[in-house]
Amino acid sequence: MSTNRRGGYVSSASDTVERECDRCEWHGAAGSYPELIKRYQDHLRDEHPTAWLRS
Ligand SMILES: [Zn+2]
Repeated sequence: MSTNRRGGYVSSASDTVERECDRCEWHGAAGSYPELIKRYQDHLRDEHPTAWLRS
């Protein structure tokens, strides 16, 4: 398993950045890294609060 812990990647087809959750099947996409990070942090807070507290 290779997980990029530093964040998402940039799709060649658009400016959308995406990433997957390390802990579940969640997958997020946004128009910018700050927005994507916010979405991921919101997901962690809601779904994995213990992980969120450590991050
Ligand atoms: Zn998750």
